[in-house]
Amino acid sequence: MTQAMVYFIGAGPGDPDLLTLKARHVISQANVILYTGSLVDAKVLMPARADAEIHSSQGMKLGEQIALMRTAVNKGQMVARLHTGDPSLYGATAEQMYELDRLGIPYQVIPGVSSAFAAAAALKLELTVPQGTQTVVLTRLAGHTPMPEAEALRSLAVHRASLVIFLSVGMIARVVDELYAAGYSGETPVAVVYRASWPDELIVRGTLSDIVTRVQAAEITHQALIIVSPALDRKTRQDTPRSHLYSAALDAPQRRDTTAIVALTRNGTVTGRRLQEVLSHSQLYAPARFLGKDEPPDVLPYTVSVRQVLQAAFQEHQALVCIMASGIVVRELAPLVRSKHSDPAVVVLDEQGQYAISLLGGHKGGANELARQVASSLGGTAVLTTASDVQGLPAMDLLGQEDGWVLRRQKSLTPLSAALVNGAHVGVLQEAGSESWWPQPCPANLIRYPTLANLQEASPAAALLITHRQVPKEFLQTVPDTVIYHPPCLTIGVGCNRGAAAREILAAVDRTLADARLAPQSVCCVATIRDKANEPGLVEACRSRGWPLHVFSRRQIQAAPEPPNPSTWAQRVLSVPGVAEPTAMLTAGNSHLVVEKRKFPNVTVAVAKKEEKAQ
Ligand code: SAH
Repeated sequence: MTQAMVYFIGAGPGDPDLLTLKARHVISQANVILYTGSLVDAKVLMPARADAEIHSSQGMKLGEQIALMRTAVNKGQMVARLHTGDPSLYGATAEQMYELDRLGIPYQVIPGVSSAFAAAAALKLELTVPQGTQTVVLTRLAGHTPMPEAEALRSLAVHRASLVIFLSVGMIARVVDELYAAGYSGETPVAVVYRASWPDELIVRGTLSDIVTRVQAAEITHQALIIVSPALDRKTRQDTPRSHLYSAALDAPQRRDTTAIVALTRNGTVTGRRLQEVLSHSQLYAPARFLGKDEPPDVLPYTVSVRQVLQAAFQEHQALVCIMASGIVVRELAPLVRSKHSDPAVVVLDEQGQYAISLLGGHKGGANELARQVASSLGGTAVLTTASDVQGLPAMDLLGQEDGWVLRRQKSLTPLSAALVNGAHVGVLQEAGSESWWPQPCPANLIRYPTLANLQEASPAAALLITHRQVPKEFLQTVPDTVIYHPPCLTIGVGCNRGAAAREILAAVDRTLADARLAPQSVCCVATIRDKANEPGLVEACRSRGWPLHVFSRRQIQAAPEPPNPSTWAQRVLSVPGVAEPTAMLTAGNSHLVVEKRKFPNVTVAVAKKEEKAQ
């Protein structure tokens, strides 16, 4: 250790055994010791020299502390400046260091165990629990020290990371409000740790809905941390892949199939009522002072802030019509906005009902559609800004939505849509599914090709493949900006021996599809003969993949077109010419097989394809 030096020391959370060896060593040699009286346990000072000068920094001004350090260092003495936990967190060390720099007084920092970690230890908690979160946010509410706006707790909380909240237990009601505003549910677990590692350490556990009462009952007002973390949810700890509480907020929350109309002004409330008459399944939220006493149940008065109403509505409803300035809506919903794939539809309407602006979730969320509906029912104008709508082009992310087309290579959606709206060459191959999405008239840059080879040769800027086949890698290398949709159109006919295992059946189906280069995502159902309707392996195989099982009677099969590969066994035992081929064709509604019968030891498989009726 060096004389004539100031050491900033992390004195740990309280327990003297949590001092580092280095800190202890400095304390045992220091001539002058300055410590935060109320927060550092005096036991930490036990190793100090008998002749050490010990000062509590409580009530001491910065200038006085610096003067003390300066005098000592000038005399060639060693100064230990103790901070609780680790000095880098809320230690106000920067201002001391600034002064020391100015005066040319040398100093060093010795890290310590922060109370954040002592509290996690007390809770036996992994703050970065796999499948919970991989991030820890150390923060506080604004007190005397203001918080930068971007770091408001409600914004930080949106990430659902582990939150360790310092210096705020005295304002726990505000903490709870902020977390609600970030969309946390009342069941979210919260822990408060008072004086972690001290002999009188106290842990209070609760949920967002009762933690305020519990903390008040325990009379905790200071020297405690508030911890909110997915790791506190016991379900996560038991290795359940995802906690329902957090996943609900993380992914798309379970939203009701309803539209919230949120009004803010008297005129807006009147417009809201008009709108409610035409929007089915809608609820009107309006300030209580603009509503009467006996309102119907779907008119809900509010007295809380409009932020709370908007944020709650965002989590609860599939669509929002906000009758107010768009600036308010943008500011209040910003912390909750996640992605165009999961956000609800948000439409903003002026109080006169003249303009209905599609603000969020234009395509998938349905806001463009809703804006049109709102505008037409109020005699106003819908304001849409998504480029494809403006040009009358189909939304590439919504193709075949009603028919259950499975989207792959979602990451290519943006370049594909950009190519389309910017007039670049977009090549299309469609060999399955309805063609009703084709725009009329078709823009010149959207060009259809009869085969994948033709399309690859044309080397377009982007490609859209609507197919039941697997797409070879070489194609994707030639045209990287390719989006693929697999319409569910393949019907799998299955025959099997009694007792055939689900595993065996699935292996036979998978092999058949793979050998024929067909996309498993395009399988829409499995078919068999009624005699096999309750065959356990077959039922289990279908259940595990979510495939519906269609069954046909012997008579239906007998009336079907002759299968290309009739089976003498089936004829003898079941009086039908086959099972796999006829049932695949019957479900597809045609007599064309994509894959003729393949025989496996206990299973037969054939594949047919549903054809779209001509448009
Ligand atoms: N540098 C310190 C934090 C100082 S700010 C650290 O790293 O821990 C003071 C705040 O820290 C208190 O308001 C309280 O929120 C927290 N704190 C300090 N010691 C604590 C302890 N033993 N148990 C719980 N919280 C503590």
